[in-house]
Amino acid sequence: GADISARNIDNLSAHFPLCMQNLHRTLKRDAHLKHFGRLQYTLFLKGIGLNLEECLIFWRSSFHKLTDDAFNKDYKYNVRHAYGDVGGDSNRRGGGYSPFSCQKILTEHPPGPGEAHGCPYRHFSLENLTALLQGVGISDRSVLNGVKQDKESQKFHMACNRVFEYVHQNEIKKAKEESIMTSSQLETIVHPNEYFKRSYLLKN
Ligand code: SF4
Repeated sequence: GADISARNIDNLSAHFPLCMQNLHRTLKRDAHLKHFGRLQYTLFLKGIGLNLEECLIFWRSSFHKLTDDAFNKDYKYNVRHAYGDVGGDSNRRGGGYSPFSCQKILTEHPPGPGEAHGCPYRHFSLENLTALLQGVGISDRSVLNGVKQDKESQKFHMACNRVFEYVHQNEIKKAKEESIMTSSQLETIVHPNEYFKRSYLLKN
């Protein structure tokens, strides 16, 4: 099975959609993320199967400029809350919050200056989006051009799926030939955790 642990997140991030890759890269660069970025990323990590203990290890080691005291005082509670480990009865019973869908990420709490949450296909300028895509290894002109057109016509999911299909083109071809995946399993992705699941399945 998959090694879903704090120390393996870096490797697994190759399977993350662009929104989560952006959070991961920003976290590595700054050793910090602001509130909504932490929430979006924590819930995604929970959704890929990272347990609470490992998630706390992940955040603690990522925020390496902080003392233990500062980490415990200012950040630990929110992670536990997202997992339903603390908080009111209904939060605990419900196991905390659900990972955010694309719809939610696209429409709620647009990121302000210095914030890295949201959907890059929607919330980045075309220039910054292109730079980010190139940064994660996507420099194919026709893909970048397609993303530009999707963004201009506000079809942000389409851009994300276009990139998914480009990155996984060989595996998708093989999966179709061998009928490993049915066409319904290859429908448009509308959830970051679905993106991860599908990517992981195709590459492993
Ligand atoms: Fe993330 Fe969804 Fe945007 Fe893709 S379309 S980058 S999965 S929010």
